[in-house]
Amino acid sequence: MNTVPVPAGLETECFVMEPQGIRHAPEIFHRFWPGRSVWPVADENTWCVAGEELTNALRDSGIVQLPPFIFPGSPVLHAQIDHSYTLAAVMPENCIPVAVGSGTINDLVKYAAALKNARYLVIPTAPSVDGYTAFGAALTMDGFKKTMPCSAPLAIIADPVVLETAPLEMKAAGYADLMAKIPAGADWIVADFLGLAPIRNDVWAMIQHPLRSWLETPSVTTRVFMGLAATGYAMQMCRDSRPASGAEHLLSHIWEMEGFEASHGFKVAVASVGITMLYEKLLEFDANALRRMSRPPQTRNERETEIHRLLSRNCYGSSVLQVALDKFLEDKALLERREILYAGWDTLRTRIAGQLYSSMELKEMFDSVNAPVTPADIGMSRDQYSGAFARAQLIRNRYTVLDLVFELGLPFDFFTG
Ligand SMILES: [Zn+2]
Repeated sequence: MNTVPVPAGLETECFVMEPQGIRHAPEIFHRFWPGRSVWPVADENTWCVAGEELTNALRDSGIVQLPPFIFPGSPVLHAQIDHSYTLAAVMPENCIPVAVGSGTINDLVKYAAALKNARYLVIPTAPSVDGYTAFGAALTMDGFKKTMPCSAPLAIIADPVVLETAPLEMKAAGYADLMAKIPAGADWIVADFLGLAPIRNDVWAMIQHPLRSWLETPSVTTRVFMGLAATGYAMQMCRDSRPASGAEHLLSHIWEMEGFEASHGFKVAVASVGITMLYEKLLEFDANALRRMSRPPQTRNERETEIHRLLSRNCYGSSVLQVALDKFLEDKALLERREILYAGWDTLRTRIAGQLYSSMELKEMFDSVNAPVTPADIGMSRDQYSGAFARAQLIRNRYTVLDLVFELGLPFDFFTG
C-alpha cells in the first residue's frame, strides 16, 4: 500500500495514493474502525466512478457494506446544509461513513459525520478543490456559504487513474484553486508585514516552497492533487483557511452571494488574475507616489454611508456591516498605518514581487489547462467583476491586498477600470 506521509498531529492520519488504491480500503477500515460496517455516500455519477470498486474491494474482506446513500446525478448537487442534516438523520449507528465523490459530497459527509461524532473516509473522484483534507465544510445555510467547523477525514484513498479521468473542467478548477495559493501567499506576506497574521514558517514551507513545482506541471494530476491535499493539511494545522485563501477567495465569495453560477475553481481563477493585476499595478508605485495619491481619511459616518451603498443589494448577510466597521481605522490610527506602509514599502514590494507570477504568466498557465482568465470567460459582466473588489474588502476580518488598497486611500476603480 502506497501511503503518502501526512504531517504528524493532524486529524487526517492516512493518505493512500496509488492506482486501484481502493483495494486497500479493507485494511484501512480494519485499522481505524475495527468491527464496523461501511456506509458509502455518493451521487449517481460518482458512484459509477468509484462506488462499485469499493463494493468489490469489500466483498471478501469480512467487512459489511450497508446499502449506500446515493444522491441523484442531476440536477447538480449543491452543498446545502440540509443535505448534511438528512445524511446525519439516516446515518446508521456506529458505521464508517465513506464519501465517494468530489468537493460537494465530501463537504456534506464531513459535516454529517461531525453531527454524529463520527470520523469518515473520503475517496475523491476529481482533483477539483482543496477541501478534501481541510478542517471545516463549506456549506450553504439560508442562502449563505458558511464554513462549518468540523473534522477533516481520518483517511483518504486517492486513485490517480480515477483523478486523471475526471472531467477537464473539474481538473482545471482544482488547478485554479491551487494557483490561488500564490496571490493568497502575497496577502499573507502583507498581513505578516503589518504584524496582523504572522506567517507560520512550517506551514509556509509545506505549501509555498513546493507550490511552483506543483503548478508548473499541470498535466501531472497527482502533483496538483498532492498540492491540494497539502493545503488542506495547512488549514488543519492553522485551524484557519489563511494558508489557502486570500483576496481572490473573497471576490469569489461575493460572486457566490450574488448568485453567480460557476464552479468554485473557475471563480477563483478569474479572481486570481484580477488580484494579480491589482498587485502589479500597485507595485508600480513607490512610497512617495502612494503618499501623493492617497485620499484623506474618511470619518466613521462617511464610511458607514459608503458601506451601506456597497451592500445595497442586501445579499451579503447580516454580519457584514459590523465586520466592515470593526476593521475600519479612523484618523490617527489610519495615518499611522499608512506611515508604517510607506516606511516599509520597498521591502514589502520586493517580498510581494518575489511571491507572485506576472499576470501574463498566470494567464498562460490557466490557458494551458483551459481555466478561465477574464470575467467574460465565465459569462460575467464587467460591472459585476469590478464592483466586487470594494465589496470583498468588507466581508471578512482577514487582511488582504484589498485592505491594503483601501487603507492607502486608493480608489478600487483605479485598479479595475
Ligand atoms: Zn478554494
